[in-house]
Amino acid sequence: MNQPRSSARPGRASEPETAPGGARTPRRVDIAIVGGGLVGASLACALAPLIERAGLSVAVIEAAPLLEGTDAPFQPSFDARASAIAQGSADHFADMGLWQAMAEHAAPIRRIHISERGRFGATRLSGEELGVAALGHVIPNGWMGRVLHRRLAELPIAWHCPARVEEIVPVANGHALTLSDGKRLGVGLTVLADGGRSGLKERLGIESDRHPYDQVALIASVELSRPHGGEAWERFTAEGPIALLPLSGQAMELVWTHPLGAEQRRMALGDGDFLAELQRAFGDRAGRFRRVGSRHAYPLSLVTARETTRPGLAVLGNAAHALHPVAGQGFNLALRGVMDLVTAMQAGRERGEAPGSAGVLADFEARRHADRRNVIRFSDGLVRLFGIDSALLSRARAAGLVGLNLAGPLRRGLARRAMGLER
Ligand SMILES: Cc1cc2nc3c(=O)[nH]c(=O)nc-3n(C[C@H](O)[C@H](O)[C@H](O)COP(=O)(O)OP(=O)(O)OC[C@H]3O[C@@H](n4cnc5c(N)ncnc54)[C@H](O)[C@@H]3O)c2cc1C
Repeated sequence: MNQPRSSARPGRASEPETAPGGARTPRRVDIAIVGGGLVGASLACALAPLIERAGLSVAVIEAAPLLEGTDAPFQPSFDARASAIAQGSADHFADMGLWQAMAEHAAPIRRIHISERGRFGATRLSGEELGVAALGHVIPNGWMGRVLHRRLAELPIAWHCPARVEEIVPVANGHALTLSDGKRLGVGLTVLADGGRSGLKERLGIESDRHPYDQVALIASVELSRPHGGEAWERFTAEGPIALLPLSGQAMELVWTHPLGAEQRRMALGDGDFLAELQRAFGDRAGRFRRVGSRHAYPLSLVTARETTRPGLAVLGNAAHALHPVAGQGFNLALRGVMDLVTAMQAGRERGEAPGSAGVLADFEARRHADRRNVIRFSDGLVRLFGIDSALLSRARAAGLVGLNLAGPLRRGLARRAMGLER
């Protein structure tokens, strides 16, 4: 693997007090985004109109150094995974002027096939049936990262990277942040987009509900004997769901959920044995598995923060809600949160309110509440429904899948929600 370079661009990683555009970092900033991963970087890009036209000062602090000029994964959020992006999210990227670039490596999902191994039930959703060209798109996380960071380099933001926020203390007009390089920032609105793993939330006394699923997602790219033709597969097996997502070109992204611990043996298998086991578990419906890339494992839990706003503070993305990837909703939900926060700030600005004001944050929370609750319930419900191995439930699931195939309007309603076109 290539070694990280910490000074990927002049004026960026090596000189954290200087923005890519050359502006000096203010000691006091209107907004500080903690974490420049998928969610934090998306927020910074979505704030562009407020930064460029309204003069908001924004700092992004990212712990992991950037890697550039290489295909290696260059930071935790932009790793070897690919994400299923709902049409609604593609629309949001289009609003930010980024969809054209994202689409260079996006594969459209034209059909989704959902089935249960060993059972008759199956349901199919197609874009044609819903009158849309694609049900969604699959984009490598690494590519999304490159597009987002390229845009950030054009904006007059203060980019602190690599630097960690080590301390966060509430003060009269927001928060005081201390960075790992010793710098301090006074911030009106701090957005925690740190993925929930840095302990900052806990230091602020924000509690989270944690439900480990005792499952691990094993991900890899695979090649099959047949062209995928834009078809995505979700196959529920006794061990856990297996998802196959189309990638641009011939490959597909495999997300294979295992009971905790069971993934270790499969991580260690030679490629041939791994492919043979995958074939047995998935069946032949999508073709013969021919090749597999490097494998990565992600332990899965449902983690939800009990508070997502406080005076001068908003919590976004995985820091607010880490979901099971079975329904591919985590980032899509987070991106709607990003857009709602920006909308609330814009509305607040018209009322003369600062981004971290009580009015803006109450508006944001009101916009988010129902969507967040519904998506968390939907994803968690799916994991539990397909995770329980009972003959009765299995028949009910099969009947449900068949029924769903027959019940056009219900299926179309579900699909519209999954595509992020309805809340
Ligand atoms: C296997 C798997 C498959 C998935 N597939 C999909 C999918 O198909 N569709 C979908 O919508 N979602 C999917 N998701 C969910 C999606 O990946 C997450 O929602 C998304 O990565 C969350 O991004 P984030 O920026 O909130 O957090 P992260 O990706 O964790 O990024 C946090 C960033 O903050 C930085 N950071 C941490 N602490 C600090 C600190 N103290 N100071 C400064 N920086 C800090 C980190 O370096 C990192 O860059 C999947 C998840 C998994 C596990």
